[in-house]
Amino acid sequence: MDFYGWTQDEWREWVSSMQLPGFRGQQIFDAIHRQGATRFTEVKGLPKDLAEKLDADYQLCPIEEIKRQTSNDGTVKSLLRFHDGSLAECVSIPTAKRHTICVSSQVGCPVGCTFCASGKDGVTRDLTAGEIIYQVLFHHQQRPVTNIVYMGSGEPLFNYDNVLKSISILADERGLGLGRRRFTVSTSGVAEKIKQMAKDEPQVTLALSLHAPDDETRSRVVPLNKKWPIEKLMQAMDEYSQQVNRRITLEYVLLKDDNMSEMQAALLSNLAKRYKAHINLIPFNPVFDTPHKRPEQEDIDRFAEQLHELGANFTVRGQRGADIDAACGQLKDKTIKNG
Ligand code: SF4
Repeated sequence: MDFYGWTQDEWREWVSSMQLPGFRGQQIFDAIHRQGATRFTEVKGLPKDLAEKLDADYQLCPIEEIKRQTSNDGTVKSLLRFHDGSLAECVSIPTAKRHTICVSSQVGCPVGCTFCASGKDGVTRDLTAGEIIYQVLFHHQQRPVTNIVYMGSGEPLFNYDNVLKSISILADERGLGLGRRRFTVSTSGVAEKIKQMAKDEPQVTLALSLHAPDDETRSRVVPLNKKWPIEKLMQAMDEYSQQVNRRITLEYVLLKDDNMSEMQAALLSNLAKRYKAHINLIPFNPVFDTPHKRPEQEDIDRFAEQLHELGANFTVRGQRGADIDAACGQLKDKTIKNG
């Protein structure tokens, strides 16, 4: 049972099916989301014999952290194991004012970007709404979470229903009550679902993982581009930006000798201006078995200078967790290899 992914109504229905009053379901929902309960016996107000019986019959939290890495800058990367043995990572990124959690939406990833460890072995399955929510609640116990980014392993828009359900439960006033604007969903370019997002969750921020502004490079680096090439993707983005009054972010991993030419800076700047988008430049953090190299500081400065001259709006993202395996999929990859 996906207990962490149940809405208040689903909890009430479940307890009612056991001839218990609906408020018991409410108590359990509150305890999971507000008090960090991971067992029924930790739910305040639940009669002891009932809580013990539920713990004997059901496992409220069939998820455990099996590995953790903590960076000098406070970034914490956790590897979680789910009930079927599947593994996925989530990352806690604390700053002075924020506590952002980067969550995974799938076990592995079907997209297979050539710079990413998560996509190396394809996808095993979608994560349930509860498995996504748990990644947030787990870190919320250490410090209240303020922002959530769907940028861990997986393509969130390929697991659309569970991702949207997780957002709506985490935004629930009786749960964490996070405002919709505190969520960012990052997609590698699932055009049809981008249009759908504009209708279903117009308050949520959309980040497009562009990584290359021309079809030849992008089809090689982000293979999903073969299905939705840049012009098709941009048509979806046109529709999206007509309906949604939110600033779009373009994610752009800087890959030495691949996507950092003068021509690519010009194309990238044009695409960004089309949507008044902000560009996040992310210097590549090398992973195992990848054809890509990290750019030198002078390569990064040159590309940034070109964008600046073109009038593009951008930042070079500071590298968080540089001393741990903080890039997507690296801790899992290492754990599987080393056993
Ligand atoms: S970068 Fe994102 S979309 Fe690409 S393979 Fe990795 S997890 Fe999947």
